[in-house]
Amino acid sequence: MQPLPIDAYLPDIAQSVVQHSITLIDAPPGSGKTTRVAPHLMRSLAPGKKIYLLQPRRLAARSVATRIAQENGERLGDAIGYSVRFEQQVSRDTQLIVATEGILVRRLQDDVAISDISLVLLDEFHERSLDADLLLAMLRRVQQTLREDLRLVIMSATLDATAMRAGLGDVPIIQVPSRQFPVTIRYRPPSPQVPIVDHVAETLVDIVGQRPDDTLVFLPGAGEIHRCIDLLKKSRLDRDFDLLPLYGAMPIEEQMRAIETGPRQRIVLATNVAETSLTIPGIKTVVDSGLARVLRFSPDVGLDRLVLESICSASATQRAGRAGRVAPGVCFRMWSEASDRARAAFLDPEIRRVDLSGAILQLVAWGESPAADFPWLESPRIDSVDSSMRLLERLDAMEFGKITDVGSRMARLPLHPRLARIAIEAAGRGCLDAACVVAAMLADRDPFDRRDSRPRTGGANIPTYAPRRWDSDCAERLAAIDEFMRTGNDQTVFGTLLRNPLRGIIQSAEQIRRLCGPLIDRSESKSHASDEHEQVASEALLRSLLAGFPDRLAKRRAHGRTQGIMVGGKGIALGPQSGVMDPEFFLCIDVEQKPGDALVRQASRIDLEWLQGSNRMEREELFFHPTQKQVVARRRSLWIDLILNETPCAISDESQCQEVLYAAVQSHWEQTFPSEDPAIGAWIQRVRCLRQWMPELELPAYDEARLREVAYELCRGKRSLEQVRTGPWLDWLSAPLTPQQRAALEREVPAKIEVPSGSWIKIDYEEDKPPVLAVKIQEVFSWRQTPRIAGGRVPLLLHLLAPNQRPQQITDDLASFWRTGYAEVKKELKRRYPKHSWPEDPLSAQATRR
Ligand code: ADP
Ligand code: MG
Repeated sequence: MQPLPIDAYLPDIAQSVVQHSITLIDAPPGSGKTTRVAPHLMRSLAPGKKIYLLQPRRLAARSVATRIAQENGERLGDAIGYSVRFEQQVSRDTQLIVATEGILVRRLQDDVAISDISLVLLDEFHERSLDADLLLAMLRRVQQTLREDLRLVIMSATLDATAMRAGLGDVPIIQVPSRQFPVTIRYRPPSPQVPIVDHVAETLVDIVGQRPDDTLVFLPGAGEIHRCIDLLKKSRLDRDFDLLPLYGAMPIEEQMRAIETGPRQRIVLATNVAETSLTIPGIKTVVDSGLARVLRFSPDVGLDRLVLESICSASATQRAGRAGRVAPGVCFRMWSEASDRARAAFLDPEIRRVDLSGAILQLVAWGESPAADFPWLESPRIDSVDSSMRLLERLDAMEFGKITDVGSRMARLPLHPRLARIAIEAAGRGCLDAACVVAAMLADRDPFDRRDSRPRTGGANIPTYAPRRWDSDCAERLAAIDEFMRTGNDQTVFGTLLRNPLRGIIQSAEQIRRLCGPLIDRSESKSHASDEHEQVASEALLRSLLAGFPDRLAKRRAHGRTQGIMVGGKGIALGPQSGVMDPEFFLCIDVEQKPGDALVRQASRIDLEWLQGSNRMEREELFFHPTQKQVVARRRSLWIDLILNETPCAISDESQCQEVLYAAVQSHWEQTFPSEDPAIGAWIQRVRCLRQWMPELELPAYDEARLREVAYELCRGKRSLEQVRTGPWLDWLSAPLTPQQRAALEREVPAKIEVPSGSWIKIDYEEDKPPVLAVKIQEVFSWRQTPRIAGGRVPLLLHLLAPNQRPQQITDDLASFWRTGYAEVKKELKRRYPKHSWPEDPLSAQATRR
């Protein structure tokens, strides 16, 4: 075996693993972490127990297992094997299993104690896939509860030690110093308008002739890799060089060819699988496109999708480093040095950028609650957790915080929960094949070139677009792909069908189909015997889509219109790409968020009768009718929160009716409170005045809040504002008064007072003002003093009226008026009103109403 830097540290590592439950290893690429640590620990520790070495990528898992087996003189599948999503090579005797994290997550579902496993190594941990975060947390939980003896090793070439210790506590870190040759960086940005793949190809044609060594090219994906190889072949580079693609979805033998050295000079064109995980020997030149596909949550489809992005600085450094492994090297960067500064330093871990519902489903299936003190390295955002739980409930995967049967089956499929739900439904309805293609289309890149999808006229090969009407854009896309497979016609109503993305989709569809194999009931068989069958098949597909997108149901606003309202209350409008013009209800499968109505690119019909199950609710809902000004009840049929239909009905829930009416009263207070009713208004003023004048009575405050309390009581059993307005306000207002308080009210602030003429005259009360008695002068002859109320504390303010009812004098000192002002008033008024009584001495005169 060739000596590697890690060799000298293996005894330390073994000792640390024995002593500590978690050990970190920080060692540069190529030092031997991946290939040496696990076999060493296998030999030195716990013989008879299994060791898992976990890789973030399937491709890496297989090639790592092969390499380790080779180095240790073993046949793959004996003592050393691998297990990834679509294949495995293990036997009963396999002791070291190289796998992806997802494999162990699913194993933990069936066997929490994993008692046959002594050690788990998480390699390339800096990639921080959601699976890796989830698995680490699950394994720590197992350590805390059942398996104190379980050992974990976390390995990386770029470990953020501070962050790790923040999450894991004071764990030991074994550091291997870097052995790296200098790498010269050359910046070579493309000219404007030149596509990146063309620029990479031109650069390669330029440089590879001058350099005798192997070259590693980083491109974002398989499509770009194949396009670049085509361009290189056009330049005849394939005559002198081996052009070797390297990406995750390739067959293992081809990958091995890229990794192994051969007689000819090699150009390896790779995705970021070659960034840190795979060792490709002999590389001295790196060409970096600066791009990668990154998994991000896409709100458009409610799934995670790969998004083309500029790589972060940390990745760019890793990629360049690949050129300095054997000798000083060169890295050509396809961007300008100036643009380097705009690069993000690190890529966010997946737990912060992808949908969590898959991880939450695993947790719930495991009997954990994600909100509790689950030992995440870094806790996910609580709002993402909440929305994931809500989605899982709507997908019938959870109920009352617990996993359901459907949920358990979903958790077994390594697919996004939406797609898993669609697959389970489709398997039950006998349309799994079609559903797998639709699922792959949703998860992958759109295979239709949208630039072509605008209606056009003329042209020999270009079809003209008749107005389109159909049930489902998804089913119609499927049909277009079917036709292409049969006839090779790539001109579709959705635009030109692009072969590369389509190839990817067909491949993913086949993989999904294989994963779902166990779901299939053997008796189901596909048949296209008759139209009727096709209709049933298409209905089955549309219903399966509903299972996966229950939160995307929309109702058309009116027949013939493109606008609708979706679950959640969001307005939507069908885009010109959609032909779903007739159905009243449809799913908005692909939605572009916009201010105002969101744009729906793909929709799919739903029949009202398909809307059954836990998302469907029948409810009597009460609301205040703004024109009738009363509470009315509607029997509403809802899907989640979307109103499917409603009919008027009688009100049965009185207490809710009271609440709804009261809410309306509050917002219509001016119209409801009978402030213009003299009895009520005056009564309130009397109490308020008395409360001020005689605080010892301890009268309650008749403020706004008390009036509203009374209004609330008056809403009981009532329907309309009018009923409240005309209700027995006084009864309710006076209800809290004691008999003593009531008596005091009548005695101390009487509504009326008897004057010498024998009339009973109203007293006007207003808070913070003296009480006013407006009375004709003739009626109060013989009153010597101003009368007082409130236990004699407050004099009335007399408005002494002339016969025309106008106040002639305002005074609270009647005695003084008689003495001084009366003579003057009498002189003036006697002329104007000679028939009235104007005695010389009003104190001894007979009071009169006339
Ligand atoms: P690390 O995980 O620390 O990056 P590896 O264990 O993957 O390092 O590789 C250590 C060394 O082993 C590499 O530098 C390389 O020389 C050699 N090596 C690893 N895998 C292969 C392989 N498949 N073919 C040839 N050499 C390999
Ligand atoms: Mg490695």
